[in-house]
Amino acid sequence: MEEKIAYLKGLNEAQLAPVLHKDGPLMVIAGAGSGKTRVLTYRIAHLMAQGVDSFNILALTFTNKAAREMKKRIADIVGSSEAKNLWMGTFHSVFAKLLRFDGDKLGYPSNFTIYDTQDSQRLIASIIKEMGLDKDIYKYKQIQNRISSYKNSLITVKAYFQNPELVEADAMAKRPRLGEIYQNYVDRCFKAGAMDFDDLLLRTNELLTRFPEVLMKYQDRFRYILVDEYQDTNHSQYLIVKALSDRYQNICVVGDDAQSIYSFRGANISNILNFQKDYDDVGMYRLEQNYRSTKNIVNAANSIISNNKNQLEKVVWTSNDEGNKIKIHRSITDAEEGRYVAASIFENKMQHQMGNGEFAVLYRTNSQSRAIEDALRKSDIPYRIYGGLSFYQRKEIKDVLAYLRLVINPKDEEALKRIINFPARGIGQTTVDKLVVAANHYGRSIFEVIENLPKLNLKINSGTTRRLEDFVTMIKSFQIMNEGADAFTLAEHVAKKTGLLLEFKKDGTPEGIGKMENIEELLNGIQDFVEGQKELADTTGSLTEFLEDVALASDLDKDTGDDDRVALMTIHLAKGLEFPYVYIVGMEEDLFPSAMSMNTRSELEEERRLFYVALTRAEKQAYLTYTQNRYRWGKLIDAEPSRFLEEIEEQYVENLTPVNDGYRYKSLIDADIFGEVDKSRLRQVKPQNGTPPSVKGPNESQLRKLRKLKPEISRPSANTNVIDANLVEGALVNHTRFGKGKVLKIEGVGNDKKAEIQFDRGDIKKLLLRFAKLEVL
Ligand code: ATP
Ligand code: MG
Repeated sequence: MEEKIAYLKGLNEAQLAPVLHKDGPLMVIAGAGSGKTRVLTYRIAHLMAQGVDSFNILALTFTNKAAREMKKRIADIVGSSEAKNLWMGTFHSVFAKLLRFDGDKLGYPSNFTIYDTQDSQRLIASIIKEMGLDKDIYKYKQIQNRISSYKNSLITVKAYFQNPELVEADAMAKRPRLGEIYQNYVDRCFKAGAMDFDDLLLRTNELLTRFPEVLMKYQDRFRYILVDEYQDTNHSQYLIVKALSDRYQNICVVGDDAQSIYSFRGANISNILNFQKDYDDVGMYRLEQNYRSTKNIVNAANSIISNNKNQLEKVVWTSNDEGNKIKIHRSITDAEEGRYVAASIFENKMQHQMGNGEFAVLYRTNSQSRAIEDALRKSDIPYRIYGGLSFYQRKEIKDVLAYLRLVINPKDEEALKRIINFPARGIGQTTVDKLVVAANHYGRSIFEVIENLPKLNLKINSGTTRRLEDFVTMIKSFQIMNEGADAFTLAEHVAKKTGLLLEFKKDGTPEGIGKMENIEELLNGIQDFVEGQKELADTTGSLTEFLEDVALASDLDKDTGDDDRVALMTIHLAKGLEFPYVYIVGMEEDLFPSAMSMNTRSELEEERRLFYVALTRAEKQAYLTYTQNRYRWGKLIDAEPSRFLEEIEEQYVENLTPVNDGYRYKSLIDADIFGEVDKSRLRQVKPQNGTPPSVKGPNESQLRKLRKLKPEISRPSANTNVIDANLVEGALVNHTRFGKGKVLKIEGVGNDKKAEIQFDRGDIKKLLLRFAKLEVL
């Protein structure tokens, strides 16, 4: 064994082996919490410490957030700024970057737009309409799904038409023209200079296959490739990794077959199983010690997964404390389930002095979040929902982004259609339809058609023609501005000049104001991005980069970590994460396991793996809750406890059988804990015989403490700052991202008030006070 270099002390012997493994392929297969991600991180650090150039390393992670955290960790370990040069991120973001360099070989502009799922769906819907097809048979969401799965299996339009089975299957499903829709969709995306999410992988594959010199270039560049969560790679991703690593074979993958949960999106567990066949002399490593969770949680998780027939043999143990048993709670309705979760979080916070960020509530489907949210809101517990409708999917945000997208890529059809008449400027749908037809006819973009209106006889009246020309002139003026200004300045100008901000302001309703605030938050985000990117070596903080970041941002990525909230998310999204306290709600048949996943053993086993993932997120304490009645599809239905509850060995669980169902927790929530306490009510929530201590209400001294804590746990919802009166020249401040500094100068007034700050780490920045996350010290 090599002598341990200081940083390698943070690894156990089993982890050390794959970190020190010399060149060649290696795979680490191990259970949850055993340090797979840690091994990957340390291996990269170690490679760099041994002199491997950071430019030669590519790491693929499940979220961009995970990549950022890894980079930070690596920089800590090797103590250098070299970590900035690492190519690290999700498959989509890494290969979007690669396509910006080399996509031109496939005929794409380097400033191609990335269509998100909504853009794809809108385009497909409009194609279906243009083709005059019945939208009840050709459902655009289903079609989008289908096209997506073709792309992920590398079935191009040509391959589709050459495969009689596929063509027949669609004909049988009464959708004989699906192939044509696929063809039109691909053509339209291409013409718009746009790639959808699946294209980012499909086109990368195409590029690497058709252009050997490009493949060579990247094989040579990425001499070391590392992949986290390998069990969830799909065929398209698998082929990219295989191609890139073919020359040097320095490929390190880590994963856990027991956590493969994306087969519905085409992930293929056989990628793990075949790894040893795909490469020669594979170093195989196993890790067994879990560092994350208590004995109870680890053992319970083991007992669940042992019910799966299809799995690799694995041992997981921990030397951590025994911990509390897993608590199972039954309630009468989903609303009460929500109240229980809120009350329990509240109580754990008080008993153990925990922050909100130490709690996560996980569910099988997004729609379950509502009842939980209601209860948390009523209890004044701040939370953040991940997934669902993300910030960037909101209408007003997409409107601003559409303008910005058009500035970068005027061919972007979906962006143009979205805002050509928003805010209203008298360009009607009939006109837009004429433009679309002409664009299709001439094989040009809509923007180009408008630019050439005088030459084309489209029978558009002179008033509308003028308005269309004004629109084009406006976008062109933004383009000119974009050459000099940074992304923030431009975006702010666009939001004002287009009348978007005014549109929502004038609306005057709370919704309108909320939208305006969201736009301000977006601008804030852009400024933050510009500032942040300037620190990085390989980026400039340009608008293109910002838009790419946004298009590929999952909600997890938006988490700036600057506020302390309970995390609400689906189990799928929670993969790889960890929290001290985890609540898994909706443990009911037909919900979890999902009704849609009980047709075959393999579907059921995937649900069970999902449960395994959920439970293994917990460090200290896990709660499983279910309800006897639940609103689903607008109806109150009887719910049965999930079979998974019974699969956990009894010794690891504790049943909290509520005494006064639907009553006790309600009283706790209803008590106005910040105002006058109604003591008679508190007496009602006093523990009764057989009631475990974890459900009793707050006592007097706890209440006092809580009152003091109020500012901390009230909801910080304002998007713009109230500017601190102490923020004057000479003041010492702390910025959530840039750290401590001193105010050199204050300038501007009102909303434009800015501070010039000399930060301790060396640089001087000018920040807009209404957005800057500053605290006066
Ligand atoms: P998952 O399967 O959920 O992705 P994982 O195998 O990737 O889990 P990690 O997230 O790398 O596991 O590690 C789990 C936790 O244990 C982390 O908090 C990590 O920092 C910690 N940990 C791992 N190995 C060690 C170690 N040798 N010493 C101390 N802490 C460790
Ligand atoms: Mg991990």
